[in-house]
Amino acid sequence: MKSLIKGIHHITAIAGNPQKNIDFYSGILGLRLVKKTINFDAPDVYHFYFGDEAGSPGTIFTTFPFDGARKGTKGTGELTYTAFSVPLNALDYWIERLSKFDVTVSTKLDRFGEKYIRFEDHDGMGIELIATNKDNRKGWTYGQVPQEHAILGFYGATLNLKAKDLTEKLLTEFMNYRFLGEENGRYRYGTEGKPGDVIDIVVDSQGRQGIQSAGTVHHIAFRTDNDDTQKEIQQVLLDNGYHVTEVKDRNYFKSIYFREPGGVLFEVATDEPGFAIDEDMDKLGELIKLPEWAEPNRDKIESKLAKVELKLKDYA
Ligand code: ZN
Repeated sequence: MKSLIKGIHHITAIAGNPQKNIDFYSGILGLRLVKKTINFDAPDVYHFYFGDEAGSPGTIFTTFPFDGARKGTKGTGELTYTAFSVPLNALDYWIERLSKFDVTVSTKLDRFGEKYIRFEDHDGMGIELIATNKDNRKGWTYGQVPQEHAILGFYGATLNLKAKDLTEKLLTEFMNYRFLGEENGRYRYGTEGKPGDVIDIVVDSQGRQGIQSAGTVHHIAFRTDNDDTQKEIQQVLLDNGYHVTEVKDRNYFKSIYFREPGGVLFEVATDEPGFAIDEDMDKLGELIKLPEWAEPNRDKIESKLAKVELKLKDYA
């Protein structure tokens, strides 16, 4: 089968306070705020995109920040941990940095022969940093994190499910994933087994259903090259009984959505056209960008959005 899916495109979470969200992901973690736009389905809420310099597919963590939203809970039917890769010797640096900003962080843990650390943002969002020498992406920081310790992009994600078989079938038969191994009840899948495409399934048959709200993931998007490959994968999914949406134009990519059998919302997003279509590369994230259909209402929309800024000096 042709490689229609090439790993993770982006992961989108629900957050609380928008300023705190920027402070955490750009300030503390050093990810570039590549786009400030609105939730196309709820225009009075921001949609922030954090990633590497260009917001390359495989690096983009995105958030819908609802100020005052109550916290969700981790549980089954959810993507519970988003893992980023960092250079092999970066974990001591990150433990110190996270502690400095009062983020409670684990000691170094082991998984599949690699070391990692685990922590949560102020909303309870589960994040892991995995030390690897297999990731040669460049990463980004604004300078407050030394380049040699920079977050390089996604490593992968953990799905917490009541059962794995139907999700495994979806991944391995229709989404170009293959089974890579099992360790302590954690089942690992990859397209090529490289950082940025890893999906782990942790089975928790008695677990409680997660509650989606601030601090939980809304959906995970997988990469496909372009409109044509997206149509192909859409057809494959439809032919095999998955309820896939029509193609939605998200301005920076096109998207189709469907719920995987374990309850997690999946998306397939195109690599094209990317985040530089409405802002110069060196100005990404500076202004609030709106899709064309929302421009006539810009004043009204902006009046409902809280003022936010990059406060990098506070996170030196
Ligand atoms: Zn998405």
